[in-house]
Amino acid sequence: MEKKYREINELKEACGVFGIYGPGEEVAQFTYYVLYALQHRGEESAGIAVADGKTVMVEKGMGLVADVFPNQDKLINLKGHIAIGHVRYSTTGASELVNAQPLLYRYRGGFLAVTHNGNLTNSKELRYKLERDGSIFQTTSDSEIIAHLVALSGKKDLVRSLKLAAEQLRGAYAFVLMTEKSLLGLRDPWGIRPLSIGKLNGSFILASETCAFDSLGAEFIREVRPGELVIINEDGLVSEQLIPSRGEKLCIFEFIYFARPDSQFMGRNVHLVRKELGRVLAREHKLKADLVTGVPDSSLSTAPGVAEELNLSYETAFVKNRYIGRTFIQPDQIDRTAGVRLKLNPMNSLVEGKKVIMVDDSIVRGTTSLRIVDKLKKAGAVEVFVLISSPRITHPCFYGIDTASKDLIGAKMDVPEITKAIGADYLGFLSQEGMLTATGLGRDCFCTACFDGCYPEEIHFRKQKHLFGDRY
Ligand code: SF4
Repeated sequence: MEKKYREINELKEACGVFGIYGPGEEVAQFTYYVLYALQHRGEESAGIAVADGKTVMVEKGMGLVADVFPNQDKLINLKGHIAIGHVRYSTTGASELVNAQPLLYRYRGGFLAVTHNGNLTNSKELRYKLERDGSIFQTTSDSEIIAHLVALSGKKDLVRSLKLAAEQLRGAYAFVLMTEKSLLGLRDPWGIRPLSIGKLNGSFILASETCAFDSLGAEFIREVRPGELVIINEDGLVSEQLIPSRGEKLCIFEFIYFARPDSQFMGRNVHLVRKELGRVLAREHKLKADLVTGVPDSSLSTAPGVAEELNLSYETAFVKNRYIGRTFIQPDQIDRTAGVRLKLNPMNSLVEGKKVIMVDDSIVRGTTSLRIVDKLKKAGAVEVFVLISSPRITHPCFYGIDTASKDLIGAKMDVPEITKAIGADYLGFLSQEGMLTATGLGRDCFCTACFDGCYPEEIHFRKQKHLFGDRY
């Protein structure tokens, strides 16, 4: 489906990347298991590429991991001790097979397989220059740009080629790359998108989230530093600060919404940070009600924090049907509405005649909040107070989370207007100060641009549209 037909009702995860170097192991099966653990980061396509020291093979397709690899048939053909894997939610490029990752290229340096989490903010400019210089793109995804920059660098040494490429990239990226002999991980100089290193016996692992390591029984070693390149091959793991770090600006939505509760970033467990977000939220909005409930999944960690702080009972008032696809993949508004309705079912016996505090992680368009408040009221709740465990989203994200100004209810309305629009009896957002306090980390550790417009770097979009139009 082309992006132009979508309406964004919720924030979307920005892909999950994984890589493993396992001497003497057949690693496709490990990768398959880990893609299940990272499935929440992207449900549009999935793929695995495997290298055996001489060649690289790839299998990928549209849909969930279980759709792409319904049985062992494809995995059996993927032989080798190095693998990379990807689950995708498209932020640039249409949701179609040609853009599914890993992307695989053959150039004079050998094979290069690419997986990417994030968005390049100067992709139009780079694409324009590359096409002008003779590159022919296979996809509409900005992830392909790094392969062309490497191929055109003229350097035999891949590290030097990657350095030249990385110096030209702007925006957010966590790349996991593979040649026929090596596994590589590269993170943008701000560290906006996450990437961690783990170890399982003699195997090194790279992954977007540490829950990937747990799924294999692997040990977490450390996070890849902003601007750092790690190279893993028969010489072990070597690291190079490929481009200077500009500080750490992890997307704060990893804690609020994207990541699995059992993952950790910067030494902080996601579930515990969410619970603390709930506690701070409750201190900022001292409400009286009969019960607290959370909208699955992220608020299942946050709502208990709210309940504890307000001394109220926490109830699981929603049952989520996990077998209904995400809201955004529905082809028209009728189906989208049905998608929201079908996914969450409130338990009438819990909410009937009650004043309910409903905790959610964010409001993007307000459509989903409206539906959920309506469901609670139809289930018999007498009043619904909505608490949001993040500040009001007022600015678009250019780093891989698909929001545009025109979609954002928080950019168009103030809090009383949004309260009315979603049909709530009260609406309270977490303050930015409160959100940062709850993480237990410094305010400089995070990108918070969608709340305050302070982007980590100059944004190139307007200039690019002016220069290169919609074609790029
Ligand atoms: S703008 Fe918002 S969603 Fe985008 S990277 Fe920054 S904090 Fe995350």
